[in-house]
Amino acid sequence: MDFGLSREDELFLEAVRSFAEREIAPRWVDIDERRWPIEEVAAKLGEAGLLGIPLSSKYGGQDGTFLQAALAVEELAYADPSLATPVYALLETAWPLIVQRYGRDEVKEEVLPEVAKGRAFIAIASTEPQGGSDVASFATKAVREGNAWRLYGEKNMVTGVATILNLPYGGGAVAIARTGRPEDRHRGISLLLAPLKRKGVKSPGFEYRDWDEIGRHGLPTGYLRLEGLEVPEEFLLGEVNGGFKLAMEGFDLARTVIGAASVGAARWLLDRGLEWIRQRAVFGKPIASYQAISFKFAELYARLEAARLAVYKAAWTADRYFRGQADVQAVAVAGASAKYLAVSLAVETALEVMKWFGGASYFKETNVARVLLGALSYYVGAEGAENIMKLIIARGVIGKEYV
Ligand SMILES: Cc1cc2nc3c(=O)[nH]c(=O)nc-3n(C[C@H](O)[C@H](O)[C@H](O)COP(=O)(O)OP(=O)(O)OC[C@H]3O[C@@H](n4cnc5c(N)ncnc54)[C@H](O)[C@@H]3O)c2cc1C
Repeated sequence: MDFGLSREDELFLEAVRSFAEREIAPRWVDIDERRWPIEEVAAKLGEAGLLGIPLSSKYGGQDGTFLQAALAVEELAYADPSLATPVYALLETAWPLIVQRYGRDEVKEEVLPEVAKGRAFIAIASTEPQGGSDVASFATKAVREGNAWRLYGEKNMVTGVATILNLPYGGGAVAIARTGRPEDRHRGISLLLAPLKRKGVKSPGFEYRDWDEIGRHGLPTGYLRLEGLEVPEEFLLGEVNGGFKLAMEGFDLARTVIGAASVGAARWLLDRGLEWIRQRAVFGKPIASYQAISFKFAELYARLEAARLAVYKAAWTADRYFRGQADVQAVAVAGASAKYLAVSLAVETALEVMKWFGGASYFKETNVARVLLGALSYYVGAEGAENIMKLIIARGVIGKEYV
C-alpha cells in the first residue's frame, strides 16, 4: 500500500496546478458571470492538453489515465469552484471515451481530435421530461430511414448544447434512444452520437432552449427537442439495442471524475474557511479558537481526506477496468461511492463555511454561495440523484436479487 503519487503523476499534477492558478483562478467569477465564455476557456484547456486526457494520441488525446484525469479535474475545480470548467473537462473525459471505445473509426477520426483541441463538445442527452433516473423507460425514439437514423423525442437538462452551437467545429450529444419496443425496457435502447453541429454547420431537426440555472452559469444546461434530427448510421455507438450498458459505463466513468470536481470545490471552501476563522476575531479571539468551529473544521477536513481517497480509488478502478483487471460493476460501485461522498461533502462544507463567514457570505462578493450553488447541481441530480448512487452501491454489494 502506497498513498503517494508516482513521480510522473506528481509532475503532471504540478503542471495542471500551475496552469489552473495562472489561467483559470483569476477569472473564475468572470466564467460564472458569463463575462468569459466557456468556449474560450475550452480553447485554453485544449492547448494545455486537459481535454480527453485518457483518449488515445491517435485521436489527439494524451494517452493518460483516469487517475490523471481525476487529479486534473480536482485542480480545475479548485481554480473554478463554480464548477463550470471542471464539469466541461470531466464530461469530455468520460463521453468522448465512450465514443472512442464504441464508435466507428471514421467518426472517431473526425470528432475526437476536435474535442481534444476544445473546438467540439460531446454532451450526454439522457434525461427526459418525465424523469432521468429510470433510463430503461425512456421514450425518445431512433427510427431507421435508409442509411441514417432519425431521432424523435424530448431530452431535458442537457448540458453543453449552447456550447456546441458556439464552438468552431460544434459537436454532438451521446443520445439514449429507443430502437426496440417499450416493453423491452433496457434491451430496446441504443446509443447514438447525434451531430448537432458538424464541421461548423448546425444540423436541422432539433430545437434547443437554455434553462435559467441557479448556479454554475458558465456551462449552460437546457431543453432539447428532437424533431427528426438525422444521425448517419456510422454515428451509432456499439450495436442496435445494445446501448444501455454503454450508457451506464459512461455514467460510471463520469462519476469517478465528478467526485474529483466536488473534492476540488470542498478543498477551496475549506481553505477559504480556514483563512477566515484564523483572522476573524469575535469576543476578543479568533473564531478558530472556539471548539464549535475548530471541531467542525476537523470533521470536514477528515471527510475531505476520505472523499479524495474514494475518488482516487474509483479512478484507479476505472484504469484497472481498461486493462481488463476489474469488471464494470466495480467501477459502478466505486464511482457511485465517490460521487455520493464527495458531492454531499461539498454541499455541507459550503453551508458550514457560510456560517463561519456570517452575514458576509450572503453577498456575492464573498463568492462562497456561488460554490454552494455549483455543488448543488450534483446534489440534486446531475449524472444521477443521491438515492440512485445508494441504489447502485446497494445492488452492487448486497446483490440485485435483494434490492
Ligand atoms: C445542472 C444539471 C445538469 C444536468 N446535465 C445533464 C446532462 O448533461 N444530460 C442529461 O441527460 N441530464 C442532465 N441532468 C439531469 C440529471 O441527470 C437528472 O436530474 C437525474 O438523472 C435525476 O433525474 P430527475 O431530475 O428527472 O429526477 P427523477 O428521476 O424524477 O427522481 C426524482 C427523485 O426521486 C428519487 N428516486 C428516483 N427513483 C428512486 C428509487 N428507485 N429509490 C429512491 N429514490 C428514487 C431520486 O433520487 C430523486 O430524488 C442535469 C441536471 C442538472 C441539475
